[in-house]
Amino acid sequence: MAVKTYNPEPFMDFSHPEIREQMLTALKKVEAELGRDYPLVIGGEKITTADRSTSINPSNKDQVIGVVSKADQALAEQAMQSALKTYDMWKEVAPKERARVLLRAAAIMRRRKYEFSAWLVYESGKNWGEADADTAEAIDFLEFYAREAVRLSEEQNLTRVDGEDNELTYLPLGVGIVIPPWNFPLAIMAGMTSAAIVTGNTVVLKPATPTPVIAAKFVELLEEAGLPGGVVNFCNGAGSVIGDYLVDHPKTRFISFTGSKEVGVRIYERAAKVQKGQIWLKRVIAEMGGKDALVVDQGVDAREAAQAIVTSAFGFSGQKCSACSRAIIHQDIYDEVVAHVVELAKPLTVGPSHEEGVNLGPVVDEAAYKNILNYIEIGKGEGRVLVGGGKAEGNGFFIQPTVIADVDRNARIAQEEIFGPVLAIIKANDFDDALEIANSTEFGLTGGVYSNNRFHLKKARDNFHVGNLYFNRKITGALVGVQPFGGFNMSGTDSKAGGYDYLLQFTQAKCVVERF
Ligand code: GLU
Repeated sequence: MAVKTYNPEPFMDFSHPEIREQMLTALKKVEAELGRDYPLVIGGEKITTADRSTSINPSNKDQVIGVVSKADQALAEQAMQSALKTYDMWKEVAPKERARVLLRAAAIMRRRKYEFSAWLVYESGKNWGEADADTAEAIDFLEFYAREAVRLSEEQNLTRVDGEDNELTYLPLGVGIVIPPWNFPLAIMAGMTSAAIVTGNTVVLKPATPTPVIAAKFVELLEEAGLPGGVVNFCNGAGSVIGDYLVDHPKTRFISFTGSKEVGVRIYERAAKVQKGQIWLKRVIAEMGGKDALVVDQGVDAREAAQAIVTSAFGFSGQKCSACSRAIIHQDIYDEVVAHVVELAKPLTVGPSHEEGVNLGPVVDEAAYKNILNYIEIGKGEGRVLVGGGKAEGNGFFIQPTVIADVDRNARIAQEEIFGPVLAIIKANDFDDALEIANSTEFGLTGGVYSNNRFHLKKARDNFHVGNLYFNRKITGALVGVQPFGGFNMSGTDSKAGGYDYLLQFTQAKCVVERF
């Protein structure tokens, strides 16, 4: 297969008039398509149900993005049976052929890039830049995993001995349940799904509740790219109705999940139980939350560090598991960095995400909105509110970027994941103290250090216990193939999405020995 070397998809520069114009056109096109019906897709068959979920625009609660059919347990069972049946065919398809489906899907998505970004703007509340990054990352996952699946299918390196032929091959696992998050509703959903299928598995895809339309669009695209029916079974539905059912199913071979710690732990526990008739141990690939910190050492450019904090804390309103929710600052530079954080956070604009130049769109839904506002109230009793501190104007789930300083390391807003635009600033006595604070939560996803001291950087390299550690830059925006992404402890199984080991998790290795 002759494909060029993988390289991440470049981001759009919306200050370029032509690019801006294309985005505006795509937003108009998508706006005209809002409110349509989307069926379930099981075994290639489109199924419309009486019970449906309504996806709304978080920037405008009165605007319906789409109405999506909802599976009950009987339909979830049908999706499982379809995936099981198709598995017998799909596992035999040559890896190169499976990879070609992903490459074609990437090519189609690239041609319709603005349109996919526009759907993200409307359904998830991402601003233009965040939406573009999400679409670019989805393309990256497709391109990267296509190449990786082909590499895995090639002759594997083994130590040779005389008189024997030894061969190691990576086989698919079986039927997987893919439960993606709403915060990267295109990229992570596409990444999780494509990794599972390119390695020969078939899946039941249960989209995230707030963002089913983007997932439906992706499933349409896979069909257009030539994916046979039944490989991906699109099964929208309530977690409480079909989530446990699919996880518990004795024919489920693996569960690939990205989302909150609570749901991840629940899945992990349930998957551990061997059901009647089940003949394997289920595999769980989980990417969960974070309480990520950026540590600022003394002697650095305070403004530059503050900019990295603000970008990492408030991009997509802090709704990234990589977001900086704690700034831990050396006491000698504390006041200076805090002043710059305030200066940079104050002018950030909050508004409908389709509007050009908006810094923070809404948070995703009513539940998130209430939860974040509640944490802000808790934070008021745990520190000094310097910026924001409540809801923002508009007919959506708008929350002001909020900066709370002088927070104790053990305060609730310093320990619990808020998943919103709330930054807690904590003062550290020295660098060692800062590292200790940074490591003091149950999570371990991303972290960052601003320092010019090589000994300190080395100390952090060795002791800052996170899956993705960044020096002297922001802590969000890991690139596929460049910064494999995934964390420690309660942040998940360190599955390293976008990395060279990722696909192994969707396979089982078989070693065949022939004595000559
Ligand atoms: N990979 C994303 C980043 O590096 C975060 C993914 C997530 O929030 O789940 O910012």
